[in-house]
Amino acid sequence: MTQSQAAPDTLYEATGRDDIVLPFQIDPYGVRGRLIRLGTVAETVIGRHGYPDAVGAMLGETMALAACLAGSLKYEGVFTLQTTSDGPIKTLMADITSGGAIRAYANFNADAVADLTPSDVAARSVPRLMGGGYIAFTVDQGDDTDRYQGIVQLEGHTLSECTHAYFRNSEQLDAGILLACQKGKDGWRAGALMLQRLPYQRDLPGNPTEEDYDDGWHTAMTLLSSGTAVELLDQDLSPDRLLYRLFHGEGVRAYPAQAVSATCRCSSGRVERVLKSLSDEELRDLKQDDPDVSVTCEFCKTVYRYDEDQLAELRNAD
Ligand SMILES: [Zn+2]
Repeated sequence: MTQSQAAPDTLYEATGRDDIVLPFQIDPYGVRGRLIRLGTVAETVIGRHGYPDAVGAMLGETMALAACLAGSLKYEGVFTLQTTSDGPIKTLMADITSGGAIRAYANFNADAVADLTPSDVAARSVPRLMGGGYIAFTVDQGDDTDRYQGIVQLEGHTLSECTHAYFRNSEQLDAGILLACQKGKDGWRAGALMLQRLPYQRDLPGNPTEEDYDDGWHTAMTLLSSGTAVELLDQDLSPDRLLYRLFHGEGVRAYPAQAVSATCRCSSGRVERVLKSLSDEELRDLKQDDPDVSVTCEFCKTVYRYDEDQLAELRNAD
């Protein structure tokens, strides 16, 4: 893999400043990281649902978190992050393919969300916005492979804090994360910055001792926590310049950025396979009093509609 010094404004012209996952490394302390910037993608996904700001902000953070965590795994398939909780926001769901196609939706109680105070919303308070529940992480690599699943209770004031609880309980992952999402003049923007510690090795560049290595990690984590939501979301601060600003003293190196797109995976083929597999009774429930069947994708709001003739043809086909 080609590597280059994360000097300001030189690297990402081809990929752009937004809608990217930018992997980086801090030598010599074996710290790996990823910076996520979602601009048009956040606006496309959140904007199409027309959610209240409290829900949009939490969904944007969920998307940025999904992109961040997916980047720490080696997989070919779909990474899904889903929260389930008993407060005003019931579900936050985001998934991302290994090719960078991301989509998301939320379920919530509109009256309860409308009753939230501006300060709870501004604080992105998990106890107030979401209540008690859990976050589930799933990797689906296709029908013939195992689904990996991790679950963590929603214990923390923010989604970042809840994720730290997951990292603490996970033996493989010593990590820290910063999340942000905000609606600005050009629409929704979301961002994430994650650091992940690699195991100590004797032959690292610069030959650090184990103690140096620990110190380097703690320094990097302190620098991470000095990053702000404003910096994470600032359109005028390029991703490489942000990395340089935070970590230049530690020797940060960036890898080529990967693009992320707001792409749904629903299709008429998938919908038709489901309609074909339903029992007559299930199909009646779906139709209710309407002779036609319409199926709306929860992620992208596309409506798939079939009249009686089309349904009969579909269900009688081999
Ligand atoms: Zn869809």
